[in-house]
Amino acid sequence: MVARSTLIFLSRREGLKDFATRFKPFRKMTARFVAGEDIETTVRAIRELNAHGCTATFDHLNEGVTSAAETEGEVREYKRVLAAIDESGIRSNVSIKLTQFGLAFDPELTYRNARAVVEEAARRGNFVRIDMEDSAVTQATLDIFRRLRSEFDLDTVGIVVQSYLRRTFDDVQELLSVPARIRLCKGAYNEPPEVAFPDKRDVDENYVRCMKLLLKSGVYHGIATHDERMIEATEEFARAEGIGREQFEFQMLYGVRRDLQERLAREGYPVRVYVPYGKTWYPYFMRRLAERPANVWFVVKNMFKG
Ligand SMILES: Cc1cc2nc3c(=O)[nH]c(=O)nc-3n(C[C@H](O)[C@H](O)[C@H](O)COP(=O)(O)OP(=O)(O)OC[C@H]3O[C@@H](n4cnc5c(N)ncnc54)[C@H](O)[C@@H]3O)c2cc1C
Repeated sequence: MVARSTLIFLSRREGLKDFATRFKPFRKMTARFVAGEDIETTVRAIRELNAHGCTATFDHLNEGVTSAAETEGEVREYKRVLAAIDESGIRSNVSIKLTQFGLAFDPELTYRNARAVVEEAARRGNFVRIDMEDSAVTQATLDIFRRLRSEFDLDTVGIVVQSYLRRTFDDVQELLSVPARIRLCKGAYNEPPEVAFPDKRDVDENYVRCMKLLLKSGVYHGIATHDERMIEATEEFARAEGIGREQFEFQMLYGVRRDLQERLAREGYPVRVYVPYGKTWYPYFMRRLAERPANVWFVVKNMFKG
């Protein structure tokens, strides 16, 4: 079976990304995880999720952008997404990645770009979640978030933390003192053992520790996982502490454990689905394969189906 680290390594190969993006037949195999290539198709996918009781977060795939002009295109795209959410009446916020706005080469430009999107969301009464990328940009991402959070309120901009990072428990405590709305996930990148727990048991244990801090904070957070053990631990802790189902949300990825998404929504938990779209799907798609290498077989099988 293909190893997780190999798939994540391949996700960062620019040559493969270019090839895969241009090669049309690949589109079919990505359909499970990526809603489509444009905003209109994604609005339709979200409308369907809404009909099943789930809200969404709209995400334009294009990480690791390398030119200022391209980052400005990303700002325009997100303004179009925010307008489409309003016009269509779908229940969705947006997620952004800061490398999409220039974090790899110009943090100040990144701040200005992200600010433009957050300002547009504020004007429309919507919410922007800043995704967390690899550990090379963790601090820079948190710094830009803190700056934006000092200008915009709790319900306009939020952040993500990853339980595989050794620093995360401390980060959660600091972020809660701001306060901040946080999405807790395990983490999806290849990280060295100095910065991330190599053992899955430690990642899960840290997830539960952070989840407890979040739930007790009184702020509305996102518990992002498909791991039933993490979900059960969250349900159990909320019950024991008398924390209502409406006081936090579960979050999952488009195309992953749809049965679980719908079941939790039926049980009265707010459930938000992360819905990515766009032409530059390659790194995102490869990370999804890495999370469950059995997906490689699923995808290959589907490619050859009628
Ligand atoms: C809404 C949301 C937003 C996220 N945002 C970020 C982010 O900003 N930064 C970041 O680094 N990571 C992000 N992630 C990814 C996250 O870090 C994990 O890589 C991913 O969620 C898998 O971890 P898990 O908690 O589901 O647990 P795991 O232990 O990895 O998986 C538990 C079980 O869930 C199922 N499962 C998990 N992933 C898949 C998959 N791809 N396909 C099929 N089944 C699967 C399998 O049954 C698996 O056994 C996000 C995840 C979600 C749900």
